[in-house]
Amino acid sequence: MPASSLAQETAEVLSRLGVADSAYTDGSLAVTSPITGERIAEVRENDAAGCELAVAAAEAAFRTWRLVPAPKRGELIRLFGLELRTAKADLGRLVTIEAGKIVSEGLGEVQEMIDICDFAVGLSRQLYGLTVATERPSHRMMETWHPLGVIGVISAFNFPVAVWSWNAAIALVCGDTVVWKPSEKTPLTALATQALFEKAAAKAGAPAGLSSVIVGGRTIGEALVDDTRIAAVSATGSTAMGRAVAPRLAARFARAILELGGNNGAIVAPSADLDLVVRGVAFAAIGTAGQRCTTLRRLFVHDSVYDSLLPRLRKAYASVTIGDPREAGTLVGPLIDKAAFDRMQEALKKARADGAIVHGGERVLEELGGNAFYVRPALVEISAQTEVVRTETFAPILYVMGYMDFDTVLEAHNAVPQGLSSSIFTNDLREAETFLSAKGSDCGIVNVNIGPSGAEIGGAFGGEKETGGGREAGSDAWKAYMRRATNTINYGRDLPLAQGVSFDVE
Ligand code: NAD
Repeated sequence: MPASSLAQETAEVLSRLGVADSAYTDGSLAVTSPITGERIAEVRENDAAGCELAVAAAEAAFRTWRLVPAPKRGELIRLFGLELRTAKADLGRLVTIEAGKIVSEGLGEVQEMIDICDFAVGLSRQLYGLTVATERPSHRMMETWHPLGVIGVISAFNFPVAVWSWNAAIALVCGDTVVWKPSEKTPLTALATQALFEKAAAKAGAPAGLSSVIVGGRTIGEALVDDTRIAAVSATGSTAMGRAVAPRLAARFARAILELGGNNGAIVAPSADLDLVVRGVAFAAIGTAGQRCTTLRRLFVHDSVYDSLLPRLRKAYASVTIGDPREAGTLVGPLIDKAAFDRMQEALKKARADGAIVHGGERVLEELGGNAFYVRPALVEISAQTEVVRTETFAPILYVMGYMDFDTVLEAHNAVPQGLSSSIFTNDLREAETFLSAKGSDCGIVNVNIGPSGAEIGGAFGGEKETGGGREAGSDAWKAYMRRATNTINYGRDLPLAQGVSFDVE
């Protein structure tokens, strides 16, 4: 492999993070950096036998780990959080190199991992069950929560490490073990995370096989999904992936935590603070080059403010700094690859055919690499929610539509197959509360006066409809990683039956 300066930097970062160079030289999986489009590593892939070994080790580790008291399991995650703090700069840099995120977002992704570790450490002392009122005298009824088993984690390229940590930190304190199949586009950050985890596991004296990484594409993902030793699979990615994975899991009655595509909307009402809207929309629609599941893709603007807002948005779109994500001042980095660029152009073509006016969307900075794809984010004024608007295109395209009536816009907002994140910008209490109410947004994340992206780990994360229904990270999302037992204990001398049933055998 030719040693470009980016490949060399990647090797140096990986070495500091504790990844052996045999893992990423001369393997069969070529890894390219979207920054320049050049090849930076050749990672060893796992075959079905590798998957089998990882699952067997995780299953063996589970038998021990489930018996370790939960706060002691939390101690492993505390130590892992310390490793992440020490390695934050390097791991963040690797996220930038491999996924193309700007520096603050690369570091922010690692910060999210640290935050979920802190959350999980606290959770390790709070895996509470309820005590429930019983109708029978001298009885007690309660719920206990037990470790579930081996958890398979399938992750997408755009959050190459944070999504794993949302699952793994929680699963591990819950007493589960984890096998992770990262995106084939971002295996290096996964290998680095694994190396850091192993350091923490060694310090904690944890059993081997608690968490491992298997590298490869769809085939190895399918092997994980079909493995009957895996109790639950948390799969993050496109709705197309979820459509393939969900029936396979259902066929063997495994739990599915599905975190799939979004098509997130925001409503700008007549009373909205437009300064807030411009900043909120710019971050949510342009940030991460439109490659967040929570990226704002549909903006409904009330007719009374449309003409004041649009020139300001057009200006923000025209002036946003696009460039090498390693450079200070860059706000928009590259798309992940050519396929993403082609899909974006295809969507813009369809929008034009639907009568839209497209601002931006063109390829820029070709001098950074023939195989690197930088685009000016596209602002698309369109009169109706046509098929292309209802489809998630994983690129920076914001469709803007005018509206007149609040009830009608609520319906339009919900009239897409996806249900991840949403917002309303308003200072009208009735509108805000209606948006949050049962007849409001049908999404898993519903915000007021902030954009739909940039969730915190303390809340449960996920969405409805084609987004898959799963919840990860904070709140009570941990319950999906444990099995619940309802226990009834009779401490009396009689045996009263529930529902007043008599069944006397004497
Ligand atoms: P993708 O669906 O192409 O791949 C995601 C992962 O699924 C990869 O690891 C891939 O190898 C694996 N995979 C694909 N087909 C599979 C199959 N049949 N069986 C098992 N595994 C399979 O997605 P991507 O391009 O990496 O990521 C972008 C998509 O992910 C977008 O749609 C985005 O909205 C979504 N996403 C959702 C969330 C969320 O929390 N809801 C978070 C991040 C990304």
